Amino acid sequence: MNATVASPFKLDRRTKIVATLGPASSSEVMIRSLVETGVNVFRLNFSHGTHEDQHQRLETIRRVEAMVGRPIGVLLDLQGPKLRIGTFSAGRVQLEKGQLFTLYLAAREGDQEGVCLPHKEIFAVLQPGHDLLVDDGKIRLQVQEVHLDRIVTKVMVAGVVSDRKGVNVPDTQLPISALTEKDRKDLAFGLELGVDWVALSFVQRAEDMMEARALVDGRAGVMAKLEKPSALDDLSRILDYSDAVMVARGDLGVELPPERVPSLQKRIIEYARLRGKPVVVATQMLESMIQAPVPTRAEASDVATAIYDGADAVMLSAETAAGQYPREAVEVMGRIISETEHDGYYRKLLKVYPIEGEASDADAIAMAASQIATSRRCSAIVTFTSTGSTTLRAARMRGEVPIMGLTPSTHVARKLALVWGVYSVQTRDVASFSEMVGKSVRMVQRKGFSRLGDRIVVTAGVPFGTPGSTNIIRLAVVSSKHDKDKPE
Ligand code: PGA
Ligand code: MN
Repeated sequence: MNATVASPFKLDRRTKIVATLGPASSSEVMIRSLVETGVNVFRLNFSHGTHEDQHQRLETIRRVEAMVGRPIGVLLDLQGPKLRIGTFSAGRVQLEKGQLFTLYLAAREGDQEGVCLPHKEIFAVLQPGHDLLVDDGKIRLQVQEVHLDRIVTKVMVAGVVSDRKGVNVPDTQLPISALTEKDRKDLAFGLELGVDWVALSFVQRAEDMMEARALVDGRAGVMAKLEKPSALDDLSRILDYSDAVMVARGDLGVELPPERVPSLQKRIIEYARLRGKPVVVATQMLESMIQAPVPTRAEASDVATAIYDGADAVMLSAETAAGQYPREAVEVMGRIISETEHDGYYRKLLKVYPIEGEASDADAIAMAASQIATSRRCSAIVTFTSTGSTTLRAARMRGEVPIMGLTPSTHVARKLALVWGVYSVQTRDVASFSEMVGKSVRMVQRKGFSRLGDRIVVTAGVPFGTPGSTNIIRLAVVSSKHDKDKPE
């Protein structure tokens, strides 16, 4: 009678997995297999694919979610102001070190001497001495002269340049919004579909997040992708206006030398944790698995490092979107997460930067719940939440016990899928103490957290159902008097 119920959650892991969908992973069979292997949040990358593709993917995710029985988050990733050169009459040119190469504002076919760069904002701010990085930083051009219609550069690092390659401008803050016309259309479309998170690319300043927040208007969580040096200078203010952040190591490692990425990753994670904002580590985590069924040792170590650093989630990009082994990549990531989290060194590292509570009711309750759960060996902390904020404050403590987030909002339950140590369930609100305990006890059994005789900690707000009022904590014993088969 007291057998453990099969849980729809992976209760032996705290760190979450974000996987990008693409041509390699859009069938229902594949999406279901990825969820069963452990994906918590899917990223829809709006740099690729049509609205119809994204629409199909979202519908498939929702069907699979209903089959699997746990909330799945959907993250809309906006392309942002990615700068690109134009095309070459020969498709490509070989640039030689030391030669001059001119960037023209007006349309023209490119050749050995120059190419079009159709972004007038850059012309306004670039100065001699600034660097332009082409094709993920493979080619480096140094600005010599800036004219109204052209920029003369000198090739510092040579190589082949081909049509429409990306350009990064690390040395200056560009006078452009992080939202392009395309982003605005994509955003309106995605919000209509009902995505749970929206990520902004190439955020440079807090104002970029303010602009996005106003457009999103509470319909999704907003995430700042940290991939510009200027964003790091404004990190504290950016966090004020962000619900989560991403260490976007792809572009970050182009805009800054790659050797700066590891220490920045650690600093950003520590700071985001302190602020109670979920933090995702992204890009090239299992890159070689695009073509191989096993990772390199260095990649395994990189995923583990993000976990030791205390990230909420680790992300797969091309590995799942376009690779040959999407399922294997998620499986390997899951195994690295479990192995790392079960290492004693992990707990030790989390304690190196102990997270203090702030002077608020929610934090006082979160800290007390975490302490009680540890000292009384509870099998779960159950948090009743209407906006998700109470659950976030509890997760921020990085305690030893899984956190069940009970919320009447499907959308909040899906958003919380991104958060470290949180397993969310959408359920009707409760109206009394006995209902609160009864529902908690039934849910922890039904979802495989607890068995008869276990202790659990429950936090909620009285009066029940009022947002932002978490003020009670209750230690309960899982007993058979709460019929676990009662319908909710
Ligand atoms: P992207 O963002 O994959 O959209 O470029 C992530 C990164 O730059 O790391
Ligand atoms: Mn990027």
